[in-house]
Amino acid sequence: MTERSAAIGDVVRVLKNATSIGVVGHIGPDGDALGSMVALSVAARGAGIDAVASFGDPFVVPDEMSFLDSSTLVPPGEFPADLDVGVVVDTSVPHRVGSLLSQLNRAKRLVIIDHHISDGAWGDHLLIDRSAAAAAELVYELLVELDWPITEAVATALYTGIVTDTGRFQYSSTSPNTHRIAAKLLERGVHPDVIGQKLFEEAPFGYYKVAAAVLARAVLDTDHRFVWSVMTPNDLDEAGLEYHETDALIDLVRMARGTEVACLLKVKKSGVIKGSMRSRGRIDVASIASSFGGGGHHNAAGFTSSESPDVIIAKVTSLLPAS
Ligand code: AMP
Ligand code: MN
Ligand code: MN
Repeated sequence: MTERSAAIGDVVRVLKNATSIGVVGHIGPDGDALGSMVALSVAARGAGIDAVASFGDPFVVPDEMSFLDSSTLVPPGEFPADLDVGVVVDTSVPHRVGSLLSQLNRAKRLVIIDHHISDGAWGDHLLIDRSAAAAAELVYELLVELDWPITEAVATALYTGIVTDTGRFQYSSTSPNTHRIAAKLLERGVHPDVIGQKLFEEAPFGYYKVAAAVLARAVLDTDHRFVWSVMTPNDLDEAGLEYHETDALIDLVRMARGTEVACLLKVKKSGVIKGSMRSRGRIDVASIASSFGGGGHHNAAGFTSSESPDVIIAKVTSLLPAS
């Protein structure tokens, strides 16, 4: 028995007899966090279990994911504190669940389902596998073992998690198993064209303006094969765009030929900076992000910092090999 199937077996035992389940994804949820929490909570309800899902502030489902089933989603303030089982998906660090931490800590049992590099285990029952391309992959395998209904809505949520976290099946994390799971989800009625249009082929017009400002500001450091840029609150104000609508900007910044690493610093209104880092594979950006207290994967990682962009970029650069 593999470690993954042993962990799935353990979590199946916990969830099977749960009297109530509350699922939480990380703050500012991406397709994997939101897809995984929707899938697990909707399937639990389908199996007759009292289930809700939530995520921290702001509690706003991004427009590009508005097609997901939202019937189990409740705002953080309505998330119960007396749960039988709390489940955290797509992160395994307490600070990434935001204000929901207090409710989760009061659940009788806590399950963590994740595929990130992190130190220190949080939770009582862990289904953590770094080889999974998405947390949704683990949720799929869990649902199969639980024999909970994988309806079209559940399959759509799982597919959303997988297609976003694999960069549309192109990142190195994409395995034969990832494709096998995607095939099973298509058999359950997923429409990849409809989902793809919403997730990847649409943006508010204001996005053009913000992208133009961020790309115009980009700096190419050929010595370190490093490209970086900054997004300011003013960029967003001028374009009438919301902060949570800028997740895909890093995909434009990282395009520069000849670079190994990209970094986008998003300055929030509070002055706090959210850093997004990407690698083409040679350099581990999770370890760079962790030097700021953040984390993630070898090729995609993030952090928050209260230092200035100049100081952050100097620190990142000092951690990159000169070519
Ligand atoms: P992002 O740049 O926000 O798309 O994040 C890239 C990856 O890093 C994702 O897998 C995130 O879950 C992870 N990540 C982002 N920000 C943080 C953070 N502050 N702490 C830990 N992991 C993070
Ligand atoms: Mn995520
Ligand atoms: Mn993920």
